[in-house]
Amino acid sequence: MSYAVKEMFLTLQGEGRQAGRRAVFLRFAGCNLWTGREQDRAEAVCQFCDTDFVGMDGSDGGRYRDAAALAARVAALWGEDRAHAFIVCTGGEPLLQLDEPLIAALHEQGFEVAVETNGTIAAPAGLDWICVSPKAGSIVVQQSGDELKLVWPQPGSDYEAMERWDFAHFLIQPMDDARGAANVQAAIDFALARPLWRLSLQTHKALGLR
Ligand code: SF4
Repeated sequence: MSYAVKEMFLTLQGEGRQAGRRAVFLRFAGCNLWTGREQDRAEAVCQFCDTDFVGMDGSDGGRYRDAAALAARVAALWGEDRAHAFIVCTGGEPLLQLDEPLIAALHEQGFEVAVETNGTIAAPAGLDWICVSPKAGSIVVQQSGDELKLVWPQPGSDYEAMERWDFAHFLIQPMDDARGAANVQAAIDFALARPLWRLSLQTHKALGLR
């Protein structure tokens, strides 16, 4: 199949348990919880998105004809030495498109493959790192993985139920909106009250990284 890509770039992972790690970011176009158009935001399941995932007009964006072509471009962005090569597949919702043939093609190029998903679509086999970030009001079917990253505060999030899901790491991350410091404090308070969870910060924003 072909793949609709918003953008790709080399950077450092900014958040979660892999923070600080060199990574190619592959942002797929499209999401199943919001159209990405402001006029639809009030009706969307996901209300707080700050990512432009519409279209294919970003750096190295476009429609890639097959898995091999997309994996080859990812490899070119990383460079020749594939030691510790790492790709973060994100979006939009990457699991609308990321499939086993693409995971296999990325593995062939020497990459460890991570995904950041809203969890409403079951993950395909073969992924090396699964990060699920649940959105209040959605049905999360992917209840296992490596890290659960809850953006906070999110009224309606059943975090007690999430604590019974099968994840190695539970992260609480302040929502990045106009409430700023109040959200940071709310996330700190959450981590102080529930020691299963660790505070995750969006270091890439503080550092001016993409
Ligand atoms: S699920 Fe993720 S990509 Fe989709 S609208 Fe919400 S924050 Fe944005």
